[in-house]
Amino acid sequence: MTNRKIVSKLLAIAMLLSALASAAQQKKPNIVILATGGTIAGAAATGTQAGYTSGAVTIDAMIAAVPGIKDLANIQGEQISNVGSQDMSFNIMLTLAKRINGLLAKPNVDGIVVTHGTDTMEETAFFLNLAVKSDKPVVLVGSMRPSTAVSADGPLNLYEAIAVAADPNATGRGVLVVMNDWIEGAHSLTKTSTTAVQTFMSPLRGLVGVSAYGKNDYYNNPEWKHTTASEFDVTNVAKFPRVDIIFACADMSPDLIDAAVANGAAGIVIAGVGNGNMNKASLEAAERAAKKGVVIVRSSRVPTGSVGRNVEVNDDEMGFVASDELNPQKARILLMLALLKPRTTTQIQELFLTY
Ligand code: GLU
Repeated sequence: MTNRKIVSKLLAIAMLLSALASAAQQKKPNIVILATGGTIAGAAATGTQAGYTSGAVTIDAMIAAVPGIKDLANIQGEQISNVGSQDMSFNIMLTLAKRINGLLAKPNVDGIVVTHGTDTMEETAFFLNLAVKSDKPVVLVGSMRPSTAVSADGPLNLYEAIAVAADPNATGRGVLVVMNDWIEGAHSLTKTSTTAVQTFMSPLRGLVGVSAYGKNDYYNNPEWKHTTASEFDVTNVAKFPRVDIIFACADMSPDLIDAAVANGAAGIVIAGVGNGNMNKASLEAAERAAKKGVVIVRSSRVPTGSVGRNVEVNDDEMGFVASDELNPQKARILLMLALLKPRTTTQIQELFLTY
């Protein structure tokens, strides 16, 4: 073969390889990572210390730290905020929801991953579950150990979150949280340990599925209304009505309820004892508030079980709402969304049985 023929054959092979590579690139799902901060982006001076700075690592550095992640999807990263999730605000949540809705409306975006601190992850997940208007996968992910720790959990969590967001089988299951191999639903999961890697549990409803090094298996489809079936639309929302959570305990001070009302609360969630209970003086204070038009939702400080209507408290007579399965922090989110327009307590009760 002449040199010219060899060169032209090599050129043809190179063109073929480049065409194949670009076809493979096009076939991979397109996932956008929206970073908000948290321990997954945290850094400490040594690998074994408990103290660290949350949100110190950028999204690009996080992606670069996970081998093989780019084989799962074409990934683009955007920094939405860089806070420990104790500083998560409704401003950031609204920015996130609006950005996700904008991105998922594009045919060339297949799924979203949100990196987030674990402290308030369940609140943002539940908020997005009600505010996102798409069936495409939206997955929140975090870590319990900073990126610099010995046995950091963030890289595999991020890998599995991308694998779920890129998975057509994750479609239509509402907003999901992927941590430590478990796929959980926004309605039911809660943080159960201040320090353990296996912190998120869904005590009443169980797992949506599992991801083992990115190989996903699904067990459940969350039954509650979410995303495309949700009636809540935050497109034009800039601010929410004030809703406070008051923690009940033995010999609880009823004036905390009066103080919330005096400070302009439109709604109050009681993290009640047992089945959403509070002492007689607090019941009276709550009833006074309800008569003034403040919506009182009885939830529970107990981590599992639901709060039933008219069980030990006469909700019909006092004008209260029972939170059903929502814990206080999620009940607050639903109540804030519910209070965006005038609704009766009967209508609000119905929302708590639906979302
Ligand atoms: N307070 C931090 C946060 O929520 C630590 C918890 C975590 O991310 O694991 O961002």
